Amino acid sequence: MRGYEGFDKIVLVINDDGYVEGGLNFVFGVAKIGGGALALVFTKRLRGGEQSLYHLRILKEVLHELGHSFGLDHCTDPKCVMYFSNTIEDTDRKGPGYCQRCMARLRSLLR
Ligand SMILES: [Zn+2]
Ligand SMILES: [Zn+2]
Repeated sequence: MRGYEGFDKIVLVINDDGYVEGGLNFVFGVAKIGGGALALVFTKRLRGGEQSLYHLRILKEVLHELGHSFGLDHCTDPKCVMYFSNTIEDTDRKGPGYCQRCMARLRSLLR
């Protein structure tokens, strides 16, 4: 990507709603744009509650999209940050970290 040399991955946090082309539902984020270098996180639906909760939600979604951009798929563990969030409750349920399985996979992908 022009102008972004020296960076492996860029996550843009956008203060708006996001939809995937052709999709009916909103998304919290997308990865794998620009050959996997760029990911987007949309914050409009992450709002509500305490500021700290809002920031934690953004962190989770950034980690989720970064995970995708490094090659991780969705995880079946509801506590894992790679679990697919369909609702804000899903996001709140999961932790801001990768489960053991995803972490091991991420390590091997980054090697
Ligand atoms: Zn995902
Ligand atoms: Zn996982």
